[in-house]
Amino acid sequence: MRALTFQAPGEVRVIDVPAPELTGPGDAIVRVQASGVCGSDLHIYHGRVRIEPGFVLGHELVGTVEQVGDDVARVSVGDRVLSCFHTACGSCFYCLAGTYQHCTRRRVFGHGAAMGNLPGAQAERVLVPDADMTLRLLPAGVSEELGLFAGDVMGTGYHAIAAGNVRPGDAVAVLGLGPVGLCAVQAARAAGAAAVFAVDSVPARLAMAESFGATPVHLTEQDVASTIVAATAGRGADVVVEAVGDAAALGLALALVRPAGAVSVVGVHAERAQVHMGLMWIKGVTMHTGLANVIGHVDRVLAMMSGGVLDPGPLVTHHMSLDEGSEAYAIFDRREALKIILAP
Ligand code: NAD
Ligand code: ZN
Repeated sequence: MRALTFQAPGEVRVIDVPAPELTGPGDAIVRVQASGVCGSDLHIYHGRVRIEPGFVLGHELVGTVEQVGDDVARVSVGDRVLSCFHTACGSCFYCLAGTYQHCTRRRVFGHGAAMGNLPGAQAERVLVPDADMTLRLLPAGVSEELGLFAGDVMGTGYHAIAAGNVRPGDAVAVLGLGPVGLCAVQAARAAGAAAVFAVDSVPARLAMAESFGATPVHLTEQDVASTIVAATAGRGADVVVEAVGDAAALGLALALVRPAGAVSVVGVHAERAQVHMGLMWIKGVTMHTGLANVIGHVDRVLAMMSGGVLDPGPLVTHHMSLDEGSEAYAIFDRREALKIILAP
């Protein structure tokens, strides 16, 4: 089958790879109808997150179940499903505590040997281990291309707001307006945030955040800190979402958060980053980090999407074929696209 693979930093290529086969009774094989290109794929593309050359990329997918192992009970052959970006066993210490993102048997699609050696979804077919935990039926009223947001990007935007404990009336700043940050803007509004400040330097992304009810703040053309401090009676934001994944954004988040506020870091960090611990300490900031608990949130997120409370529809800017994968990564890397949907 055809699959989009990492080759070297800046180089991805469609090649022929063996089709996946069931490896255990909890597995499913899904024929992929659509997969997404994500900011997390860019970390791999840039070489910041290292994976093996030839590894199949992609962790956002919707498709049709083609085969199931004997123990799979919640999905059947022919079902239209979406997948979460990682698997979970459902029975380890962390799963029993509801923190599925820390499952001891967790495998992340398309992230190489270090994250569970699970080939990705930018392919014609994909193996889904622990299918009962990892897959969800696509609800009526949620289109295929929007369904793939629930298992990653919207789930992560929602997680950023839930982990930061945003409450009605809060002022929230969102740093980084890629798909994740824009979903966090919507989730913040849905949680009752009275003001959302949306920070980036890409005009189209700022405009989209404004259309979702946020106040756009240009990263370099405006003084971000004084703008947000002035708009919050001199305090700073109650909760700051870092949806970038670099040290500069983390530093800005600490500058923008009010004393006793929270910074919710969903941007991926794979390297050392210095933070101003003195500033963090004197402000008494709580910082939440790590993988989003999308399996914990996915049913709620799907319900909010079905009900129109969350709507990632405007984020889909490009439809391309899997064979155009190399061009898709280049366009997304230039920030000319928000969500690119790839069809095999
Ligand atoms: P993206 O690359 O499309 O967007 C990042 C945005 O940040 C860009 O628009 C860029 O212009 C902006 N930016 C860069 N530096 C900035 C700064 N200092 N301040 C404000 N904005 C700045 O990425 P995305 O798909 O939206 O993903 C965002 C992050 O979330 C990535 O790091 C991705 O890996 C991560 N992610 C994490 C999880 C998780 O489970 N925690 C899940 C999905 C994605
Ligand atoms: Zn992703």
